[in-house]
Amino acid sequence: MIDHVVKLHPKVSEFLKGPKKLFINGKEVESVKGDTFHTINPATGEALATIYEASEIDVDLAVEAASKAFEYGTWPKMSAYDRSKLMYKLADLMERDFDVLAQLDTLDNGKSINEMVHGDLPNAIENLRYFAGWATKMMGQTIPISNSFLNYTHHEPVGVVGQIIPWNFPIQMALWKIAPALATGCTIILKPAEQTPLSALYLAKLIEEAGFPKGVINIINGFGKTAGNALVKHPKVNKIAFTGSTPVGQAIMKEAANTMKRVTLELGGKSPNIILPDANLDKAIPGVFSGIMVNQGQVCCAGSRVFIPDHLYNEVVDRLVDYAKNVKLGNGLDETTEMGPLISERQQEIVTSYVNKGVEEGASLLIGGEKLEKGFFVKPTVFADVKDEMSIAKEEIFGPVVVTMPYSSLDEVVSRANNSRYGLAAGLWTENLKNAHTISRKLKAGTVWVNCYNLTNAGVPFGGYKQSGFGREMGSYALDNYTEVKSVWVNL
Ligand code: NAD
Repeated sequence: MIDHVVKLHPKVSEFLKGPKKLFINGKEVESVKGDTFHTINPATGEALATIYEASEIDVDLAVEAASKAFEYGTWPKMSAYDRSKLMYKLADLMERDFDVLAQLDTLDNGKSINEMVHGDLPNAIENLRYFAGWATKMMGQTIPISNSFLNYTHHEPVGVVGQIIPWNFPIQMALWKIAPALATGCTIILKPAEQTPLSALYLAKLIEEAGFPKGVINIINGFGKTAGNALVKHPKVNKIAFTGSTPVGQAIMKEAANTMKRVTLELGGKSPNIILPDANLDKAIPGVFSGIMVNQGQVCCAGSRVFIPDHLYNEVVDRLVDYAKNVKLGNGLDETTEMGPLISERQQEIVTSYVNKGVEEGASLLIGGEKLEKGFFVKPTVFADVKDEMSIAKEEIFGPVVVTMPYSSLDEVVSRANNSRYGLAAGLWTENLKNAHTISRKLKAGTVWVNCYNLTNAGVPFGGYKQSGFGREMGSYALDNYTEVKSVWVNL
């Protein structure tokens, strides 16, 4: 039998030995109190590594380091070109250690190595290079007031930024945050999710090797209520960039108001994926299926509400069930694995309790919903006969659960698709050009994918309407998140 399990890179085995430290002021350091926690391999439920846990004191040290690096030292004096060179160098080092970073996220998060190699990691590196390019291209304006005045604007870095990220795309989320902040000249304290600290800590080694001045990027692992909250409260942090759940986003916004921090929030979603009557079903059905199943459904923009025309409903649902039957679950390090485990036992409980709720509320469970004996797996799940008011149709499940609903007219489906507190993304499957454009305009979502789903690109803005948050990551729009605009009046 051929073994498809990738061999651990020697650097990975080496890296997993011994407790992992915080990265503050350009050095790996133990936490001041010496507390530690474990990160768990979700495919096995076993501990992978010990991690030093940042307390409020460590956060304070990291903020001091970032604050000094922003005001003094080489970083504020560095030309935009030199800043961009450092970013390109870091991207090259990430490329050099590509397998290491890919394997670390697969071990820590459970996702398939194929998703890492073809999705998360190239996307992370692409973001770094894309924003390295922007560093030298940010320009202000001259504004024609009158012959008596010269007025011009320039964009200044907002200062010390706290960046708090989730566990579902660890290295990708880290670079979505770090890259635009570096391009604009900010200094950074990154707090990875407590479930997936490893790839960011490995990145710290590469940051050091690339030669970034000390204190420009600090990486502190720890928990949201302690380390995360200390970052949000800290008076010397000028801005918080957060990706995570809507309730935590709301708490951050309230807390940040006390120090009037700038805040951008990338939050949850319950995105509609709509098959129109004229869709090419051979493309739409697999597209809709992967639109929810990628990363075990743990994707903020997952197409988790599937709307199907009445007359196609039974056919589409049957074919979705066939896809669900054939998904190969397994350890993410096995190259033949199509679906890995959920991130944690808690997430497995949340997802299976939604499955039970769906059944209690009267939806038909056609396939899936079961756990596997070992690891935090949940089998791909398809529900039929779902009503808009049911919990599984309204709330973010963050798991491999397809919720299908029939509709009878285009006006009806647009109104039902928009009937959500979220507005992160939407999908549309159609061969009709007019419908593609007119319905895209009507959907209240930050991204609309037509005949595709879940695509992102460093040059394309991504972010939410409504309770999915505000601010846009990627593209030139992301630069606004990290800059203040200054206007200068000169009386001639
Ligand atoms: P979460 O909100 O519980 O945690 C996210 C991060 O916030 C973690 O680093 C956590 O430690 C930290 N945190 C938790 N409480 C905090 C607090 N009080 N103060 C400061 N920091 C705190 O979310 P999660 O369960 O880790 O991630 C899943 C959620 O993230 C889903 O709702 C998903 O939709 C959302 N998400 C959104 C996007 C997007 O781009 N819109 C991307 C990925 C995930």
